[in-house]
Amino acid sequence: MAPNYDIDYDSFNRETQFKYPFEQISARNEPVQYAICPACLNPIQLIGLVKRSKCKPYGKHAGKTVNDLPAWNQYRYEYCPFATNKRAITDDASDLIIDDSVIELYRRCSATYTPSAEL
Ligand SMILES: [Zn+2]
Repeated sequence: MAPNYDIDYDSFNRETQFKYPFEQISARNEPVQYAICPACLNPIQLIGLVKRSKCKPYGKHAGKTVNDLPAWNQYRYEYCPFATNKRAITDDASDLIIDDSVIELYRRCSATYTPSAEL
């Protein structure tokens, strides 16, 4: 089990100093922040970390290999407890469709959690 960190600006800055490969420039020439899912160890993209958005920052499985981060593993992703398929109810009552790969790492998983299979 990888260590868990809250998804917020301060902890990201503390752990990565926004250094490559945790921050990379996207094809749209914008900085994108990445981390590793603590459960499936796939790369995740952090949303709302720097740019202000309505919701709290969260992680989204990248769905592909990201340069210099662990290679995308579809099998582990499919068994990842953070991979969900649901609608999230937001505070302003409009509901936002979140795709099936949204994870909310700021809800830390319980310390007793152990992956069911070591791959
Ligand atoms: Zn995962």
